[in-house]
Amino acid sequence: MKKTVTALTLALGMLIPFTTFAKNNVVVVATGGTIAGAGASSTNSATYTAAKVPVDALLNAVPQIQNLANVTGVQAMQVASESITDKELLSLARQVNDLLKKPDVNGVVITHGTDTLEETAFFLNLVVHSDKPIVVVGSMRPGTALSADGPLNLYSAVALAADDSAKGKGTFVLMNDDIFSARDVTKAINIHTNAFASQWGALGSLIEGKTYWFRNTSKRHNKNSEFNIENIQGDSLPLVQIVYGSGNMLPDAYTAYAKAGAKAIIHAGTGNGSVANYIVPTLNQLQQQGVQIIRSSRVPQGFVLRNAEQPDDKYGWVVAHDLNPQKAKLLAALALTKTKDAKEIQRIFWDY
Ligand code: GLU
Repeated sequence: MKKTVTALTLALGMLIPFTTFAKNNVVVVATGGTIAGAGASSTNSATYTAAKVPVDALLNAVPQIQNLANVTGVQAMQVASESITDKELLSLARQVNDLLKKPDVNGVVITHGTDTLEETAFFLNLVVHSDKPIVVVGSMRPGTALSADGPLNLYSAVALAADDSAKGKGTFVLMNDDIFSARDVTKAINIHTNAFASQWGALGSLIEGKTYWFRNTSKRHNKNSEFNIENIQGDSLPLVQIVYGSGNMLPDAYTAYAKAGAKAIIHAGTGNGSVANYIVPTLNQLQQQGVQIIRSSRVPQGFVLRNAEQPDDKYGWVVAHDLNPQKAKLLAALALTKTKDAKEIQRIFWDY
């Protein structure tokens, strides 16, 4: 008996170093943005050139990440994120999908410009079928600035991607110690390091390399999504454009986009996605021509109620629920890869 116990203790003792302390493998996919930006001096926190620093330099600047995971880097592109088109978005989603299919990759971090970071994150949330953590991260100050926020954001993003407790919770945006859900996070401030916010709050916090969870998203994402990057061909999505609502509008933007081939128009309306009485006939005419009319709101919080302000059932329009116009644009484009039926598109907007 004593011999067996001793042998067992010995065997366990040999196993523990490999099981308990084996680090996960995380790949950092770099795309550019301020997190890869460089300014003329350390006091240039807001005037600098984005997308300058290559991925190896980004990783070498934060050697502490290697304590969290075995981290390797890939340079997917080097751009400011406002210039990302469907082509780059689809190619990035394919790259992330391919990486996560590898059994020896446990999580992926995407470094990204903050301008369209929420769009890329939401797109990955919708089309990459994996339970493994996908974390999109940026920074508001370039690495050359005093109190640069990129290094800690990157450290926290790697910690999140390497954490098994992050599995299956959807695609994340990590900024300023907050873990956000890709679906409802938005860039809410253009100048400070607490630039990102969600009206429903963060999912959790990331402090000193540790995750603290507070809520989950109830919407479909990743493995549970009906959209899959592997089923999307080519390098563009169905064309969807946004028209911003205000007083004293002209109908010309809607008709011009339809003429240019838009299959759906996101109306970023006032209040509850309202439409001016003199714009309604134009939208109905376009709807009858087969252009989907999707009512979202220019108001950053709340959600658009169906059949309130406008009779959506009667007109065959769709409401974007709580998705902001830029997120509604992406979901509409994906929905249009499957259906032209407004009722089915509305169902998709409730589900995601
Ligand atoms: N406009 C640039 C971009 O989105 C820089 C902004 C940023 O990353 O904070 O890539």
